[in-house]
Amino acid sequence: MHRGAPGRGRPDLQQETIACTGKERFPESTPPVICPACLHPIIPGQMFTRIPLGPGSDPVKRELARSGAPYVAVTAGIHWACITGDESESMLSIT
Ligand SMILES: [Zn+2]
Repeated sequence: MHRGAPGRGRPDLQQETIACTGKERFPESTPPVICPACLHPIIPGQMFTRIPLGPGSDPVKRELARSGAPYVAVTAGIHWACITGDESESMLSIT
């Protein structure tokens, strides 16, 4: 079974950004999640971002991760202030 040269993913998948550091407002319709940095809940309306963790339990994503191919990682939410220190747009002070 022939395998292509490693290191060249599918061109149509390379525009997928694995590391996403965009600032978002936590949606109103989403139940609060626990921030892994401060262990306080992320409340709807607070600024947060998503950090990529890895392939998770999906065997297809795990195979892609092992081969170095791009995949869409499982992400975890974290307060924007907890990853940048910027509390200027936090609705609640995080102590
Ligand atoms: Zn936090």
